[in-house]
Amino acid sequence: MALVEILVLFGAPGSGKGTVAQFLKENYEVYHFSTGNLLRNEVKKESDIGLKVKDIIGSGGLVGDDIVNEIVRRNIIDTIEKGSLIILDGYPRTVNQAKVLDDIMSGTLREKIRVLELEVDDEIVVKRISQRRVCVKCGNTYGPQDKIDVCSCGGELIKRKDDEESVVRNRLEQYKKETYPVSVYYNSRLVKVSGDGSPEEVEHRVDDALLKFGIKKRR
Ligand SMILES: [Zn+2]
Repeated sequence: MALVEILVLFGAPGSGKGTVAQFLKENYEVYHFSTGNLLRNEVKKESDIGLKVKDIIGSGGLVGDDIVNEIVRRNIIDTIEKGSLIILDGYPRTVNQAKVLDDIMSGTLREKIRVLELEVDDEIVVKRISQRRVCVKCGNTYGPQDKIDVCSCGGELIKRKDDEESVVRNRLEQYKKETYPVSVYYNSRLVKVSGDGSPEEVEHRVDDALLKFGIKKRR
């Protein structure tokens, strides 16, 4: 059995988690689970829990912790039997969820959960996000270094209201209050990596951190 079976990808909004998740999918043998994907999957499969999710979303509600926890539990148990590394992205978001995850991986299996935290200074996050433009057609994001007005797909690039500085600062505050305690909870099972710099620089640090966990790149 592998040394690490679950890698939690952790970091504030704008820390570059999406880019790192993409890099891991392309270069490592992994299953990538984001909460959004898992929920959509259950709805598509029309499983008992998927039908519940469909009802809740259909009536404009928010999917509660219990349902999210149960969906994560089912998918983790099914996937671990296949022997591949699971990347969890966007989960656990609270200490309570982290405890649920520990319960799923009971006993010595807990030691097979490792956390990779992307650390980026608040001011850099604010700068990154407030300078970001998004394609209205495909959702691709562009930074200030991209000196274009139209996406490669032909869609128009706009600044989202959600990306305005005050909104970003609010999201960072909320993250610190609700989600950051998860990082403290994991303590010895967590490695911090700087998310500052070019994608190549960050990817290099991620490779090093994963190697420390005994996780090797796909040949
Ligand atoms: Zn586009």
